[in-house]
Amino acid sequence: MKNRDLNTRRSLATPRGVGVMCDFYAVRAENATLWDTEGKEYIDFAGGIAVLNTGHRHPKVKAAVAAQLEQFTHTAYQIVPYESYVALAERINALAPIDGLKKTAFFTTGVEAVENAVKIARAYTGRSGVIAFSGGFHGRTMMGMALTGKVAPYKLAFGPMPADVYHAPFPSASQDISVAESLKALDLLFKSDIDPARVAAIIIEPVQGEGGFNVAPPELMTALRKICDTHGILLIADEVQTGFARTGKLFAMQHHSVQADLITMAKSLGGGFPISGVVGRAEVMDGPAAGGLGGTYAGNPLAVAAAHAVLDVIEEEKLCERSVRLGAQLTARLNQVRAANPAIAEVRGLGSMVAAELADPATGRPDAEAVKRVQQRALEQGLILLSCGVYGNVLRFLYPLTIPDAQFARGLDILAAALQG
Ligand code: PMP
Repeated sequence: MKNRDLNTRRSLATPRGVGVMCDFYAVRAENATLWDTEGKEYIDFAGGIAVLNTGHRHPKVKAAVAAQLEQFTHTAYQIVPYESYVALAERINALAPIDGLKKTAFFTTGVEAVENAVKIARAYTGRSGVIAFSGGFHGRTMMGMALTGKVAPYKLAFGPMPADVYHAPFPSASQDISVAESLKALDLLFKSDIDPARVAAIIIEPVQGEGGFNVAPPELMTALRKICDTHGILLIADEVQTGFARTGKLFAMQHHSVQADLITMAKSLGGGFPISGVVGRAEVMDGPAAGGLGGTYAGNPLAVAAAHAVLDVIEEEKLCERSVRLGAQLTARLNQVRAANPAIAEVRGLGSMVAAELADPATGRPDAEAVKRVQQRALEQGLILLSCGVYGNVLRFLYPLTIPDAQFARGLDILAAALQG
């Protein structure tokens, strides 16, 4: 099968709304390597958008799923439950950075975790308002889209948005927004748009993913916790992209001295299988009435088996430590390139959640075209890179944390050459 023929078939058979980045088609993948239909080999620094912290088809994940496949693949947990779901909830409860009694519910996709976190927060508080941040990304369903702080392409032509969702600006050095300004805007929101007594939750990514790998400053998190405590608002950390060792900790909230009430997770929890979850204070999680949460495939047994294996692998292969080491290597290399290339405006990140922001050196304006050129040059040399950022001018790196050292070094060489042009 030729990639060109497949592209023709794709454009005829599928809508343009499902945008596709690469013009080649996957046939096989293993750890950090992916092969296309024409036999070309790629180093995968995209990791299926932050899903493959344990790599493609980790042997332990494969074995766990294969074993489950021999038992049962679906009962609908809400009809006939199974122990593995309960055991996974127990493991997440023990690992999540929230003090006291906790409970966890599983779903299928990241946005479902977000939707359900909002439902839980509303049911527990009896309030409806939700505050999110500009540049934040929380998914593509109606509420996920409303919470997302970026119009194009996520909200274009899809309105009206669900009511009672508000945005505050996320602090950003490159956009010249300080923590104080962000908090002032939140205060103004309480004066101009919604009484804080009507706010159920504030939702924030500890490191914005799609928004540009912007790390939430500790003082912002501390201030948000205080605001939430003052007004009886719940703090939701959306860890769909940051979770499972990506930032050098199992959960990015472990970098902070304050805690969330609810944490959403997905992506790398399943190592390539669709599973998401919400963990939170037991009392809050029990807000919704029996039957109010769930879904036909929520906590699918194959994905639950994969998640157990993922948690084992993260621990056995010390992927948090590896995340820190690989992230430091990447950051050092990017800074080295930056010294000779003024188009790299900033290198930032946490652990292996690292990004390079490109701007026009003459004007300082975000340069999305430069990012596209770097991606194209890297692809030609067999390296898959992702972009992000409100202006599309940020390169982000989401390689498997299990990537062999030599392959990682080769990836960095291709990246450095692509950045040098
Ligand atoms: N929240 C965050 C922080 C995300 O990064 C994403 C996906 N990029 C989502 C929610 C939505 O997840 P999904 O695409 O699995 O629904």
